[in-house]
Amino acid sequence: MARATSSIASNVKSVQERIARAAARADRKAGEIVVVAASKTFPAEAIRAAYDAGIRAFGENRVQEWESKQAELADIKPSWHLIGHLQSNKARRASRLFDWIDSVDDAELAVKLDDAAGEANEWLAVLLEVRIDPTETKSGVAQVDLPALAEAIVQMPHLQLRGLMAIPPFCDAPRDARPYFRRLRRLRDDLEQSLQRPLPELSMGMSHDFEIAIEEGATQVRIGSAIFGERRAK
Ligand SMILES: *Cc1c(COP(=O)(O)O)cnc(C)c1O
Repeated sequence: MARATSSIASNVKSVQERIARAAARADRKAGEIVVVAASKTFPAEAIRAAYDAGIRAFGENRVQEWESKQAELADIKPSWHLIGHLQSNKARRASRLFDWIDSVDDAELAVKLDDAAGEANEWLAVLLEVRIDPTETKSGVAQVDLPALAEAIVQMPHLQLRGLMAIPPFCDAPRDARPYFRRLRRLRDDLEQSLQRPLPELSMGMSHDFEIAIEEGATQVRIGSAIFGERRAK
């Protein structure tokens, strides 16, 4: 574990340097960009190593997997994001376990999250996941349905709509993902206009293409393998 831990620390450092360079190219401040370390398949010790290296937000894909790691990490307080698809029958558990739900994509799920957060006397930060390329991706709200979903969610007292998230198709050349990032930003800008409220967050970009996403306005980059190493095939 000692070796894995030190490589996580050096990976975090190099990711942070790459973020700083991408931000500079786009005339942005690196401090505007949060790394959400995508820790699926990696154990609690790896999360702790990344935390010790300065990461303050983590993204898990599955409620159950996160439940199995959570107890070991009760002493640290980064923000915990759910970045994977959430079924509405797990909304209650998810609302207790996460500070952010980044993958909200339908109204029924949103209602359940709002109810659960309300019962706990809390609120949840949410992002709407947009299906940015209908031919490639399955999860996410269709672009035509986005305005209605956003309007419904801003009425929900225990949800705080903070922005949009998307997973573009994998492109061999990262720059080919640029149009998708740009489209997500434009959808966000349009929504800010129609809702007349700020939606500051754009969660876009992963290990392979986060620099392009930052050039296009990402405020949260979800980075897994560039921090934790390659995931083993299941
Ligand atoms: C796994 C995952 C990531 C990170 O992927 P990497 O390519 O390892 O950086 C980001 N977002 C989501 C939703 C993921 O499932």
